[in-house]
Amino acid sequence: MMSFDYDLFVIGGGSGGVRAARVAAGEANAKVALAEEDRYGGTCVIRGCVPKKLMVYASSYADMPETAAHYGWEINKGAFNWESFRGHLNTELDRLEGVYRKLLKNSGVDSFDQRARIKDAHTVELDNGDTYTAKHILVATGGRPVRPELKNAELGIVSDDIFHLETLPKSMLIVGGGYIACEFACILHGLGVEVTQYYRGEQILRGFDDEARELIANSMKERGIDLQVETDISALALAGDDSNGPVRVTRKDGEEVEFDMVFFATGRRPNTDSMGLEEVGVKLGRSSEIEVDEYSQTAVPSIYAIGDVTDRVNLTPVAIREGMAFVETVFKGNPTPVDHALIPSAVFTQPELGTVGLTESEAAKLGAIDVYATSFRPMQTAFADKPEKVLMKLIVSQESRKILGCHIVAPDAGELIQMAGIAIKMGATKEDFDRTVAVHPTMSEEIVTMRSPTRSG
Ligand code: FAD
Repeated sequence: MMSFDYDLFVIGGGSGGVRAARVAAGEANAKVALAEEDRYGGTCVIRGCVPKKLMVYASSYADMPETAAHYGWEINKGAFNWESFRGHLNTELDRLEGVYRKLLKNSGVDSFDQRARIKDAHTVELDNGDTYTAKHILVATGGRPVRPELKNAELGIVSDDIFHLETLPKSMLIVGGGYIACEFACILHGLGVEVTQYYRGEQILRGFDDEARELIANSMKERGIDLQVETDISALALAGDDSNGPVRVTRKDGEEVEFDMVFFATGRRPNTDSMGLEEVGVKLGRSSEIEVDEYSQTAVPSIYAIGDVTDRVNLTPVAIREGMAFVETVFKGNPTPVDHALIPSAVFTQPELGTVGLTESEAAKLGAIDVYATSFRPMQTAFADKPEKVLMKLIVSQESRKILGCHIVAPDAGELIQMAGIAIKMGATKEDFDRTVAVHPTMSEEIVTMRSPTRSG
């Protein structure tokens, strides 16, 4: 029998890789190594979910003094100090990176602070030339933001750069209409930046429920974000001599507009370049993502891949699930396919979107549905004369009465949808929701008190 240096070699110390490594070592007693070329914790902890959510919190205080004044408080709104916030943010990220390193160490995983590539089906080569053999190799290298192919695109920043800015610009153009573009439009607007957002499609947040998309787009505009859809750009140029100075943007309609900074949130690409994957027989898809089966196994039986590098559902909890399922399958003798159905998720715009299941238009294509929806001004901000509205929406199968989709646009919708997600994953029907007594007075009580369908289709 062939002997290997390790039972498992994980490439990438992000959400999926760290979880798989430490569970394989800690719970299945496997001999495990992990290579990370940058910082432990990966996209989520260092340049994604965590710093972004902290920025969401930072920007959410902007509105508070005004609302509080309607409740009788005398609060003077001061200025936002980016440098002070960034200092606290960096301290927190350093702490979290330390936690990730420690988790690996305490589980007995050997970590290498090195870039790694695959040499053959059982061999990993590090940047320093060292090679290690392993019975199984797990690729968990995630993805990276990409700029569009246009003239001087490098003058624009991407999401990785936002957390390192020395100062916040006065004005910023955000290009893109996905969740990252919309979240940062809201965050930066809240922090005092004049935000313009261009999206080439008809409406932002493609793939989410249309009614929710429209409500969020309207709320963003009402808040003062200059959101322009069906607008695209063709080139960037420096507006003056300063390489860090304002940028002139040429729009596809020929108009030229100047911004202090341009931020491309125009998509991400799996990290599969120069990793020796295709050379050993791993198959890549059209966006260079690693193709895997339901057990996350690639075309090479000893090589598996999880997380964003497989471009299935690019979310942290999904990468973690895929990592856990991989360990169950390969190290615990319990073949576990990854369940990608009914994944609840949130978009941290202001207001937030929480969503699980099918959109109205997806569900309508599959069978007859009843739609229950209500949109209203929530108590807390209506009291302060704010125009903001929330949306509570259920899509119900006429045949089974099961809830096929739930879409909530409201403050803390991310928190609400986690709870609704449990019931819906259990197969709850509309009648189950109806049998549940409302919690009063809350926004979410509407989700159990909508009696008649708004429309059917
Ligand atoms: P990653 O976390 O990207 O980790 C991959 C690691 O591999 C990285 O550390 C990288 O340095 C390393 N690596 C790459 N190549 C090599 C190599 N050859 N050798 C060694 N190391 C290598 N998800 C949510 O669920 N909720 C959110 O709110 C959310 N917000 C996001 C906001 C932003 C701005 C971004 C960019 C992403 C966000 N995501 C969010 C997505 C989430 O971050 C990813 O889905 C998740 O991090 C994927 O985990 P992963 O393990 O696949 O890859």
